[in-house]
Amino acid sequence: MAKLDLQQQPHRRFNPLTREWILVSPHRTQRPWQGQTEATGFTPEVQYDPQCYMCPGNLRASGERTPKYQHVFVFDNDYPALLADTPQLDFNHGELLVARGEPGICRVMCFSARHDLTIARMETQEIQLVVDAWTEEYQKLSGNPLINYVQIFENRGAMMGCSNPHPHCQIWSTSSIPTYPKLEQASFQDYSQAHHSCLLCDYLKLETDLKERIVCENDGFLAVVPFWATWPFETLILSKRHVADMGALDANERSALADILKRITVRYDNLFQTSFPYSMGFHQRPTDSLEHPEWHFHAHFFPPLLRSATVRKFMVGFELLGMPQRDITAESSAERLRAVPDSHHTF
Ligand SMILES: [Zn+2]
Ligand SMILES: [Zn+2]
Ligand SMILES: [Zn+2]
Repeated sequence: MAKLDLQQQPHRRFNPLTREWILVSPHRTQRPWQGQTEATGFTPEVQYDPQCYMCPGNLRASGERTPKYQHVFVFDNDYPALLADTPQLDFNHGELLVARGEPGICRVMCFSARHDLTIARMETQEIQLVVDAWTEEYQKLSGNPLINYVQIFENRGAMMGCSNPHPHCQIWSTSSIPTYPKLEQASFQDYSQAHHSCLLCDYLKLETDLKERIVCENDGFLAVVPFWATWPFETLILSKRHVADMGALDANERSALADILKRITVRYDNLFQTSFPYSMGFHQRPTDSLEHPEWHFHAHFFPPLLRSATVRKFMVGFELLGMPQRDITAESSAERLRAVPDSHHTF
């Protein structure tokens, strides 16, 4: 019987987390590119910007002053997308116009006092302080009865709509579980019922055996371009141990997380010789009152770049109307990410 050639033939791949399909067209990578391919190098910025509200000692929109912190600083977002005092009121007009009040808390975390750093350019020990601060924020917010889900995410680079280059992330916590974590939760639950094991533990085993899509790994974490990746250089960072949230990581695993984040972001930077833009974030156990043994802690990196520092992928046309589509396969993306060093910048 003929076998499908995943490197040559168009096919669709199932994402068991979202249970959506992604169309892969590997044959299209030979297509000539006529768009702009101008490359831009890394331009170091100033270590301190008097206009930046996240730099130590500067004034914020709220009128508060950012303290002269050294490593990590967390504060309430001055322009929050969610407010804690929003009433959870239901709106229903003829079953067609349906809405519900969504209370929440938006926090901002500066990773470093240095304005010009990125995770890729921070020392692993410094990233570990960020991991500790994420854990602390997650645990603090999980104690709040109003909050049932905590989403930690970083938008890196102007291409991702990030308005300030100061290294930072956001923490949006909500009273409802947002769409994607909720979809993943249902997948975890269904998989565990059907197989009596964890979806991501089994996936981790499979990728470790096949070694086709692994980018890098350490004692605590595995970084892969998932089989069902949508973005050209999308990666999934999986904890090797089945833990439901950051709070369950031991000291070694927390430093392993800092290490893998450093290594994956250095690889990204080296790939196109640029400070690589991305959206990244952690998916973990909801902070409602339930146990959630089905959850497997992981991080997603969604970078937009396709061919160079300036050529990005757009989700348009068929992707908006049909389903996501990619040309380069997950396997060749992983191979290209493996081919660049993760110990130092090459530019
Ligand atoms: Zn700054
Ligand atoms: Zn697991
Ligand atoms: Zn996820």
